[in-house]
Amino acid sequence: MEYTIKTLLTREEVEGRIKELAKEIEKDYQGKDLLVVGLLKGSVVFMTDLIKEIDLPLEIDFMSASSYSGTESTGIINISKDLDIDVKDREVLIVEDIIDTGLTLSHVRKMLEERGTKSLKICTLLDKPSRRTVEIKGDYTGFEIPDEFVVGYGLDYDQQHRNLPYIGIVVKK
Ligand code: 5GP
Ligand code: MG
Ligand code: MG
Repeated sequence: MEYTIKTLLTREEVEGRIKELAKEIEKDYQGKDLLVVGLLKGSVVFMTDLIKEIDLPLEIDFMSASSYSGTESTGIINISKDLDIDVKDREVLIVEDIIDTGLTLSHVRKMLEERGTKSLKICTLLDKPSRRTVEIKGDYTGFEIPDEFVVGYGLDYDQQHRNLPYIGIVVKK
């Protein structure tokens, strides 16, 4: 498919919003033992920018999970890389690139809660609320966007464009 990429959110807009999110997180996690969990690979660019702006002691870890939506909104989750750190009794903040149907995150959230987290919140750069099939919401959301396929800032199209320093919509030629 031939396509072009049309800017949806500029680098300045994204960077500015990430600083705001970081300050909110910093306020909420004062005195807490924060563990930031990134979902690979999409969250990497966002997460590295975000944690640099959080002036608190924190640990980071990564997990790679994908969901296969079955016939119903239940689906199945496949964990190809699990966390190294035990989340039991930890204050966990999951960092995600985008919430679309919500399936991936709802599975990850349930799994981590079952491991006995002390608290569990979600920080997502992007949210497509119109596509949701399961009830889930970011505690910290960068931008709500329309139902378009976007790339950049960690998000890929066929593994490409993760390094774009802005968010763009993939437009068919
Ligand atoms: P969900 O389980 O919420 O339906 O899907 C979440 C995952 O699907 C995201 O973490 C992301 O990897 C992928 N995804 C959903 N929408 C988009 C999009 O617009 N662009 C890209 N590049 N990936 C998306
Ligand atoms: Mg993702
Ligand atoms: Mg992808």
